Amino acid sequence: FLAAGLLGVGSVNAQIASKNTISLDKKVETLLKKMTLEEKVGQLNQYNGFWDVTGPTPKEGLAAKKYEDLKKGLVGSMLNVKGVKDVRALQKIAVEQTRLGIPLIFGFDVIHGYKTISPIPLAESASWDLNAIQKSAAMAADEASSVGINWTFAPMIDVSRDARWGRVMEGAGEDPYLGSRIAEARVKGFQGDLSSNKNILACAKHFAAYAFAESGRDYNTVDVGESTLQNVIFPPFKAALDAGVRTFMNSFNELDGVPATGNTYLQRQILKGDWKFQGFVVSDWGSIQEMKAHGYAKDDKQAAEIAINAGSDMDMESSAYIDYLAQLVQEGKVKETTVDDAVKRVLKVKFELGLFDNPYKYCDEARELATVGKPEFQTEVLDMAKKSIVLLKNNKELLPLKKSGQKIALIGALANDKTSPLGSWRIAADENTAVSVLEGLQAYKENQLTYVKGADVALGSPKFVFETKINTTDKSGFAEALAVAKNADVVVMVLGEYGLQSGEGRSRTDLGLPGVQQELLEAVYTVNKNIVLVLNNGRPLAIPWADEYIPAIVEAWQLGTQSGNAIAQVLYGDYNPSGKLPMTFPRNVAQVPIYYNHKNTGRPVMNEPESVFWSHYIDEKNTPLYPFGYGLSYSKFEYSDLKLSSPSFSKNGKIEVSVLVKNTGKVAGKEVVQLYIRDLIASVTRPVLELKGFEMIELQPNETKKVTFAISEKTIEFFTANSKWEAEAGDFKVFIGGSSAETLKGDFQFIK
Ligand code: BGC
Repeated sequence: FLAAGLLGVGSVNAQIASKNTISLDKKVETLLKKMTLEEKVGQLNQYNGFWDVTGPTPKEGLAAKKYEDLKKGLVGSMLNVKGVKDVRALQKIAVEQTRLGIPLIFGFDVIHGYKTISPIPLAESASWDLNAIQKSAAMAADEASSVGINWTFAPMIDVSRDARWGRVMEGAGEDPYLGSRIAEARVKGFQGDLSSNKNILACAKHFAAYAFAESGRDYNTVDVGESTLQNVIFPPFKAALDAGVRTFMNSFNELDGVPATGNTYLQRQILKGDWKFQGFVVSDWGSIQEMKAHGYAKDDKQAAEIAINAGSDMDMESSAYIDYLAQLVQEGKVKETTVDDAVKRVLKVKFELGLFDNPYKYCDEARELATVGKPEFQTEVLDMAKKSIVLLKNNKELLPLKKSGQKIALIGALANDKTSPLGSWRIAADENTAVSVLEGLQAYKENQLTYVKGADVALGSPKFVFETKINTTDKSGFAEALAVAKNADVVVMVLGEYGLQSGEGRSRTDLGLPGVQQELLEAVYTVNKNIVLVLNNGRPLAIPWADEYIPAIVEAWQLGTQSGNAIAQVLYGDYNPSGKLPMTFPRNVAQVPIYYNHKNTGRPVMNEPESVFWSHYIDEKNTPLYPFGYGLSYSKFEYSDLKLSSPSFSKNGKIEVSVLVKNTGKVAGKEVVQLYIRDLIASVTRPVLELKGFEMIELQPNETKKVTFAISEKTIEFFTANSKWEAEAGDFKVFIGGSSAETLKGDFQFIK
């Protein structure tokens, strides 16, 4: 770095960096003292990648301004720059041409892989396999870091209960406990201990409550109470923080009248106050500016004032900080110590990343060449993809498919689609790089396979994330599909959403199969009932007709680069599915938000048939189509003998609860054993069920295993009416089973 050695100032940093004996905070303080107010503000400014970096210098417009700012040391971070050549060129300007030579950090949305694409995060979450999820994040970090990226805007850990919201594909589903464990796994996977250039900074987003947008419409108003915030929305963020996440991103939504970006309660009181977060908060894209449209700031200047005072440290692409923050300090509207605190947080993270020791830590052309898309990654993403698949129905034992002597009809546009399986948020991956289901099934050569499209999912093929396709009404392909289906022993239909039908700005009011796919399914059923329905989608779907009539249903989400191979191996039984739903599937979009850990009303009659529930619909059941935690296997698991080591426990004590699980099926399989509790009477009303633990076990045919969970104060504590996390004395129920709907039950007490 000190190749720079510019004006003797760079060497100040060299001294700072080399003296390991000096504490990090001291190093940060020393550097801060050298900085002008403008340079400080520069560290809080993040620009989107803005010009052909290695081409001619931009002369006019925004690009020229950004370029000038960069040379003056007025940029702290850039996003969406990729490739060692470009990263190196920009870093060189920051390090060699600016007065203080402070290195940039380079952010990118590495959401489920960089070039080699893993299953969408919701799908990975269906694996409930924390080691696999951590490995997947580590792989993404390895590949992304090799192109110069050192910060991912992931994981997204917004607890999501509303399948209309397109961004459910990016998260871990509806449960705070599962979401917390997955948040930890992803943070550890991305960041490691930050010492290696294969690790990158993670970012817990979006703080907070973004997923609770009214009507599931992206960016919409959020209005939730403190109990939901604390007990449901915050836990994964706290877990990410405890796992060492270095950055947070705030969110676009308002919360009870205050935009999250300008929200002092969220950022100062909770995150930096109660939780003592030491890293920095980046705004969401332009969210500082957006406070104008919210009706919360009259101009960019006021927006900057509100945001910094509320604890937003870095401005992503609003230019509000770089344009107004220094002026606001001079006018006394923002204290310089407030700016200093934000700058210190950013600098500290840069030190932790090792960029002061070597700003080109992530700039290794040879590694880039050897790493991007390397074959070993394919094995890893295939493994993750298989683990993410959920078997929803297998009535006639149509699955696994017989390996020879079968005529298989493969129907559906998605079966021959090599882009949709990549899902949303795969900015760096090339189109047409996923293995399609058609290709996956072709590997099984002893059967006769005939593919016919039947119908498109939608018209056109959107390249840009915000471009929407129009639903098709074209049924001209039905006749050919029916002719092929009629002749087949088994029909495999791949239906669902095209790749960019979920994701940011992709809210839907209809959770059925888009376009004419439902009609295609029903038409094919009239000629052949042996249908295996493979779903490709980025959110829970409402498919009650399919559930009633189609004998086999496989939830295959958007599984990434190796999608088709994973699906084929599951369909043919070379992999026994073990995924469990991380989000409830409704019968009807009007049930949404529908989630397993709901509260009771004052009008239920417990353990009575559903008809006597007065809090009900007169035209639809209350229950979901497929509950949280649900998923079948080619094995069969039987639960018995729920036992508690004692009927009660008291302060600092614990009890154990165990069950026996037996594989009564014919093949070996994995099962996720789930522990739930219910707090019967509490100082604030509690959910009817709450996941509190899970364990994945593997069982040979006829094998039985005992699974034991410990229950302690930690298990039962929650944010009480005293406004703190604590365990309240009282009666509890405990439930263990293979889903949230089918469990064995027991009772225990906590005595204070
Ligand atoms: C999204 C963020 C993302 C950012 C940068 C925003 O629109 O909400 O999740 O990290 O863009 O791409």
